[in-house]
Formats: sequence, structure tokens, C-alpha cells
Amino acid sequence: MSFHAILLEESEGKVTGSVTELPDDCLPDGDVTVRVDYSSLNYKDGLILKGLARLVRTYPHIPGIDLSGIVQASESADFSPGDRVLLTGWGLGERHWGGFSQVARVKSGWLVNAPEGLSNRQAMSIGTAGFTAMISVMALEEAGLEKSGGPVLVTGASGGVGSVAVAILAHLGYDVTASTGKEGEHDYLSAMGASNVMGRLESSGRPLDKGQWAGCVDTVGGTTLVSALTQMHPHASIAVCGNAGGNDLNATVLPLILRGVNLLGIDSVMYPTAPRQTAWRRLASDLPVDKLEAMTEVISLDQTFAASEKILMGGVRGRTVIDVNA
Ligand code: NDP
Repeated sequence: MSFHAILLEESEGKVTGSVTELPDDCLPDGDVTVRVDYSSLNYKDGLILKGLARLVRTYPHIPGIDLSGIVQASESADFSPGDRVLLTGWGLGERHWGGFSQVARVKSGWLVNAPEGLSNRQAMSIGTAGFTAMISVMALEEAGLEKSGGPVLVTGASGGVGSVAVAILAHLGYDVTASTGKEGEHDYLSAMGASNVMGRLESSGRPLDKGQWAGCVDTVGGTTLVSALTQMHPHASIAVCGNAGGNDLNATVLPLILRGVNLLGIDSVMYPTAPRQTAWRRLASDLPVDKLEAMTEVISLDQTFAASEKILMGGVRGRTVIDVNA
């Protein structure tokens, strides 16, 4: 038996990839074999396809940090052939062969049963990006975010994490301000539920500005995060989940020590299993399906290379699903 996958190879420090036919017996170790239906494109996949950030250390490699599919064979008591499953994180597509493939062999402990109310395609429309948006919102709620507190800011709003965060927060009844660098996406973000759409944050250079935000989901990092920090209400929190605009954090501690602002670190990769199930259940209920469809484009494995170039340029709107069997 054989299957198709994107295979990355490295030669003299340069990473190249192509859709390749591979035999089943080359799959890595794992106790569950999944017939993959869909994967999705995330910013990290863009980095991996270009061989950037040293996220992959061993080649040849199958990328794809997300997958959904049907269990084909299982040595685990927790999963049986025919089960509908999904997987995000745990090093899939980084340390372990991933979801840009018609078949994947993985560890059962990484798998989640697909929640009722979400198809496999919808689950990948959410993917790591949407999951990260959900756990960011959950972190803000746990830190005391309240609907009566005022506007909640989402940065990098037209991207995958940002779009889903806007849609979830709006559906939950929060007053959402979407910050985007793309003037052409204002109508899109209003349709996702933002009550206000603004440009990218600009720094005033002051350590504290007027407090405007009751909470923030920051997907950008760098100077955007520094600016957001200076504009938070007292005791408000920022879910710090992305670095699309840079890794540096050249801020002062004044918002933290004079306003009690909290920086909440968000890591979707090693997020524990029990709250992971909760987050997926909440995604099935807190993210309206019509908004999910409106933010999703479906592409084939062949089209993934061009899309990955685009996501690294900040040029992808919403979420990109990969139909690995197209
Ligand atoms: P996308 O590329 O879909 O979205 C990122 C958005 O950030 C862009 O659409 C753009 O939005 C904005 N942006 C891009 N470049 C810049 C820049 N130089 N300055 C300011 N804004 C910029 O990526 P994702 O939504 O998939 O991921 C967003 C971030 O979250 C990434 O850094 C990713 O690595 C991280 N991430 C982290 C996870 C975790 O576990 N912590 C999991 C998933 C993602 P706009 O034009 O609207 O401003």
C-alpha cells in the first residue's frame, strides 16, 4: 500500500518539498494509524515548509502540525478503527511526521475524539490556530475577563488565530476591537463580529497610555504587544500567543507594577489533555459555523507551497484547510 504526502528534504542547508508517493512501511512508530481527511495551514507550517526557525531537525520529513481523520488501525484501548479523531500540537509535523499526508501514524495520547457538532473539515478549519484562539479566550476568562469591562482587543485580527478569536469573543457577547494592517479586511472583520476595526497599534513611546482595553488576544508580539501593554485597563490581562511581528519584548514593567496588568503565556503545543477536550467542546459551541465557513479556504496538497509563502508574508485571511485527498 502507498500514500501521497508532502515530503521535505534537505540538501546543503536548503529545504525543498514536493508531493511524493510513499510506501506504508515507511511510517514512523506509533500505536494508532489514521487515514487523514484534512489538515490545515498555520504560520508555523509556513516556517517549516521553508526550513526556517530550525523547527525540524531530521529530514526527510512530512510537515503538517494538524490533522483530522478516521482511525484505520489501533493498538490502543482508547481508539478503535472507524473513530473520528483530530490532532494538533505535541510536535506533530515538527519532531514527528505530520498531517500533510493521506496517512499518519501517531501516539494515541496525542489524539482527541472529534467533538460532536464539528465535522473533520470544520475541525481543521479551526486547527491549531483556532484552538489557540479558544485557549487564549479561556485564559482571559480565568483571569477575570468580564463582558461589562469594556472593549477586548485582538491584534493580527485578519490572520487565523485573530479571526477565530474575534468570532468567539463576539459570539460570547464581548465588545471586540479588531486591529489589522489590512484596510481591505475591515468589512470581513465586522462580519466576524468586531464592533470596531482599527489599524495596527502604534507606539506612543510612553510606558503608560490611557487604559482602553479590558483584555487582549495578541498574535503579533514585538512592538504591537509593547503598545497593547501600555493601553490596558488596571488588572486586565493579555493572552500572549503569537510572534508574527517579532520576538522582542522591549517593554517597561510599569504597566505590570502600577496597573497590575497580567501577561498570560499561551502554548497550544503541550497544552494538557483534559482542558484540551474542554477547549474542543467549547469550540463546537462558542464558534458559529457560518463564521467559520466564511473565514475558510480549502486547498490541495499541491497548492500548499504557494499558500505557505503567503502566510509568512501575513497575506492569508482567516484559515486555510488542506484536503489531502484532493
Ligand atoms: P497568520 O499569518 O494567519 O496571522 C498573523 C497575522 O498577524 C497576519 O495576518 C497579520 O494580521 C499580522 N501580522 C503579520 N505580520 C505582522 C507584522 N510584521 N506586524 C504586525 N502584524 C503582523 O498566522 P496565525 O494566525 O496562524 O498565527 C499567528 C501567530 O500566532 C503566529 O506568530 C504563530 O506562530 C502564533 N501561534 C502560536 C501558537 C501558540 O501555541 N502560542 C499556536 C498558533 C499560532 P493583520 O494584517 O490583520 O494585522
